[in-house]
Amino acid sequence: MSQIIYPTTNLKKPSNLVIERGEGVYVYDNKGNKYLEAMAGLWCSSLGYNNKELIDACTDQMSKLSYSHMFGGKTHQVGIDLAEKLTSMVPMNNAKVFFGNSGSDANDTHIKLLRYYFNAIGKPQKYKIIARERSYHGVTIASASLTGLPVNHSNFDLPFEALGILRTDAPHYYRGALENESEIEFVDRITNNLEKLIIEEGPETIAAFIVEPITGASGVIVPPPGYYEKVQAILEKYDILFWCDEVITAFGRTGNDFGSNTMGIKSPDLMTLAKQLSSAYMPISASLISGDIYQALIEPSNKVGVFGHGYTYSGHPVACAVALKTLEIYQRDNMFDDAAVKGDYMQSKLQKLNAHPLVGEIRGKGMIAAVEMVANKKTGQAFPNGDIGHYAMAACQRLGMITRAIAGSSLAFCPPLIITTSQIDEMIFVLEKALDETLIYAM
Ligand code: PLP
Repeated sequence: MSQIIYPTTNLKKPSNLVIERGEGVYVYDNKGNKYLEAMAGLWCSSLGYNNKELIDACTDQMSKLSYSHMFGGKTHQVGIDLAEKLTSMVPMNNAKVFFGNSGSDANDTHIKLLRYYFNAIGKPQKYKIIARERSYHGVTIASASLTGLPVNHSNFDLPFEALGILRTDAPHYYRGALENESEIEFVDRITNNLEKLIIEEGPETIAAFIVEPITGASGVIVPPPGYYEKVQAILEKYDILFWCDEVITAFGRTGNDFGSNTMGIKSPDLMTLAKQLSSAYMPISASLISGDIYQALIEPSNKVGVFGHGYTYSGHPVACAVALKTLEIYQRDNMFDDAAVKGDYMQSKLQKLNAHPLVGEIRGKGMIAAVEMVANKKTGQAFPNGDIGHYAMAACQRLGMITRAIAGSSLAFCPPLIITTSQIDEMIFVLEKALDETLIYAM
């Protein structure tokens, strides 16, 4: 098919969809077929396709300064401006930001920052990180080790043991609750498990707990009410930092500026951002830490001469210019409030499909959702493999919509934030038809 090793693809069965161009919320293949991009690419194209302002920001910056690095503290105004805007937006204390290129490398950076920090304050044994089952944090050696999905571990000899990644429960009531267990009991049980894990391992060995406020790739899991309150109380008790991976949930996606705010999370110590930071027009990511953590890094870097971490493209001026323009558009057009209203609309429309015989659960918040298909609606019995998800995804594609099969038998929805209510109607219409087709296939 080509010389490409395709990412996250069954290498025996690569698809042959050739996407040629995009406009608004639609993309077009090389045969002229039009598709509603109901996934905003990979949860990232928030402002849709062919946005002239972003294209201008990009080309203007390329003409002015196509590249400059940030090693040795060399800098440029657009990077300074982006850092100032971003740190003023995040719900953190005196945040400082390190720029990278992807969500995965931003999470790697955080692991290194944590080690640097705890070495600096004389606690080198405090390096372990708690991550959840069914989480997704990327695919580099370190970030894939944080990820809690078997497909990202098997055949790669991961998780990498020396990283000291500990695993705790996913806050997934639909798939994780015991028989007759209420949501409150479920939250009590899994947060007690978290506390037990901390005590068994020794809190003095644990640096941080990483969460996606609402998980994306592993099934769009919205934790039950009260979960984060309990988690944060436990972390505070044992002096463990709280790290929000907001690569998907930031910038209006969940109906608020940040997913942390949607979920009632208080001031995370670390935050990872990427994707919608630049509406995916340029690759850029951000690893944010609180001011207190930053202060502790200064002296040790002085001792050895440099803070020895940085990428050729850290703070790439073109990526910074595009990200800055993206954030300006979000604010100027009140896009987070708008996403809240359209998100409610999308969720209520999706809920109407709950009656469909194939649908087990519809989950989501704001403009992110998953529709889980089940073999038995009454018992919630899952399909034995991912066939149904792939069939439904292909049916959507035949009907002119791009979605993604995730976590086996769920379809994910994460449209560009610029989608209109009538385009949401179109999305639901296609989904319903695809579910009907999939039901016939399943019988
Ligand atoms: N963290 C989360 C929550 C993600 O959803 C992703 C990607 O989907 C990543 C990290 C990794 O980002 P990237 O694919 O840019 O490396």
